[in-house]
Amino acid sequence: MYLHPQYELLSRSELEYLQQERLQATLKQCMNSSFYRERFRKCGLSVSDIKTPEDITKLPFTTKQDLRDNYPFGLSCVPLDKVVRLHSSSGTTGTPTVILHTARDLEEWAKAVARCLYMVGLRSGDIFQNSSGYGMFTGGLGFQYGAEHLGMLTVPAAAGNTRRQIKFITDFGTTALHAIPSYAGRLYEVMVEMGLDPRRDTSLRTLIIGAEPHSEEQRRRIESMLGVKAYNSFGMSEMCGPGVAFECTEQNGLHIWEDYYIVEILNPETLEPVAEGEVGELVLTTINREAMPLLRYRTRDLTRFLPGECPCGRKHRRLDRMKGRSDDMMILKGVNIFPVQIETVLMQFEELGNDYLITLTNEQANDLMTVEVELKEFTDNYPKLQSLTREITSRLKDEILITPQVRLVPKGTLPQSEGKAVRVKDLRKTLI
Ligand code: ADP
Ligand code: ZN
Repeated sequence: MYLHPQYELLSRSELEYLQQERLQATLKQCMNSSFYRERFRKCGLSVSDIKTPEDITKLPFTTKQDLRDNYPFGLSCVPLDKVVRLHSSSGTTGTPTVILHTARDLEEWAKAVARCLYMVGLRSGDIFQNSSGYGMFTGGLGFQYGAEHLGMLTVPAAAGNTRRQIKFITDFGTTALHAIPSYAGRLYEVMVEMGLDPRRDTSLRTLIIGAEPHSEEQRRRIESMLGVKAYNSFGMSEMCGPGVAFECTEQNGLHIWEDYYIVEILNPETLEPVAEGEVGELVLTTINREAMPLLRYRTRDLTRFLPGECPCGRKHRRLDRMKGRSDDMMILKGVNIFPVQIETVLMQFEELGNDYLITLTNEQANDLMTVEVELKEFTDNYPKLQSLTREITSRLKDEILITPQVRLVPKGTLPQSEGKAVRVKDLRKTLI
């Protein structure tokens, strides 16, 4: 059940002791970079001022902008000849950032991913197919090496060409698949088009889904469509990639590996810790990295700590599924709304498919939201469509407090994106 019991089963006090040791080593390592030396000098801090993991609040933050300003090698803490690979983020919110890895970093990353996969029951003997884009995107090589580390037969199918992806699943007897949630829905639809029933015609049992926000409702849908257990996987290039936080078989939140990271959840405005159980910005300090450790990295991802202990025995704290990034938040008529709230409502309607698009406009100085959502099956029963539209509109209004315009569209008519799904189109013009 545990790949690394010596780390996974540490008590809280043992974990904190380990964090303290690793934080000290990390700070020393940071002093090899001109970026952090300068930051420390500016704050009048020295490494010896930080003695316990709580002292971390004395440290300055590191932001995505810092990474961009020092692109590509400015945060390196090792000579470039010790760097064996670099990755970059997907660039969802702007210029991509670059992350450097030594051979040791890559080994530790593979171990973290392997730990996650083992935790959800995958073993050597499983056939693991990865539908992530390879190359710079960390979901490709990150899962590849993690799965190989466990000794699984690993199929680097990569993204795109869904029919080929499905052929691999059936030909190789794939038992576990990694896919982004929006792609999992697409896979199912194409399987049906090909006359396949995933439960009867494939050996799929486990799905790893992550890389983009998704609701509990979408997860349950994917599980029932494909006949699998789907586990939420959270990561980001700046923290290596996948392997940062992962659900265990309890499916009750994501254990974040505290032997790799010191975890804070802060109010994004005051940058003070949020009250127990409140949602805030996830801020992470890497404590097990050589080439490019990051201190108090502001992820911009919003989540909260879940209370209580997990029956699985691991003491690494659990994060709630991500609400989205602070950048994803839409503000309409003074109300803050996240796309995943809308998804939660839509996915409860049997009649609806998996794809939707939220468009924001401001025609008459008034913010308008249009929600286009695809129908699972074609129908020209207009009274039924009208009452469905009314019902969806009213449920959305209960959730987001404003009344969107809902449009039901035929399946396959919404634009498809190659990578992470684009859920929001903001066409609002700045009004003077
Ligand atoms: P980019 O930041 O350019 O998208 P990455 O590929 O590194 O590049 O993506 C990391 C981001 O993806 C995270 O910061 C988070 O916003 C999102 N993400 C990753 N995993 C999940 C998940 N399981 N749930 C919600 N969001 C996720
Ligand atoms: Zn658990």
